[in-house]
Amino acid sequence: FDYLRNRFLPMIENKRMELHVRTAESLILHGDEDLLRSLFVNLIENAIKYTPEGGTVVIHAKNKGEFAQIQVMDNGIGIPEQHVPFIFERFYRVDDSRTRSQGGTGLGLSLCKWIAEVHKGTIEVHSKPEQGTTVTVSL
Ligand code: ATP
Ligand code: MG
Repeated sequence: FDYLRNRFLPMIENKRMELHVRTAESLILHGDEDLLRSLFVNLIENAIKYTPEGGTVVIHAKNKGEFAQIQVMDNGIGIPEQHVPFIFERFYRVDDSRTRSQGGTGLGLSLCKWIAEVHKGTIEVHSKPEQGTTVTVSL
């Protein structure tokens, strides 16, 4: 998480955003370090990309039973309900001028889902337009 904080601090400051990281001290993730890193890099990239200036990104990691639960939350543009079932598909992007004004290929979340699944984990999205998005990863 220090790696993630340091990596994204310049982007966060550029957009006058805030990044809050809350992690349980005893949290241990078992898995491929590079893959898990790119999973969270992609989620945080999205959270920053799809949140207007001055917004906030919160990373919350805790133990939940035998799982580690990591949430990446933003208070950005959100995802209209009808698009949510598709956003893990390769190349899928919400067809919206605010999304299109941001670069991207639509591959990030499909990679995240693949990485979660090879770790026998799950990934879920809850989102409300204009309010924000929470992605929950359980590993
Ligand atoms: P890439 O990650 O390949 O650069 P991308 O960000 O468009 O491109 P994904 O990360 O797969 O692709 O996300 C798919 C789509 O889901 C995005 O285009 C965007 O419409 C929507 N989306 C993903 N994360 C968020 C978020 N945090 N807030 C709002 N919309 C999001
Ligand atoms: Mg992305």
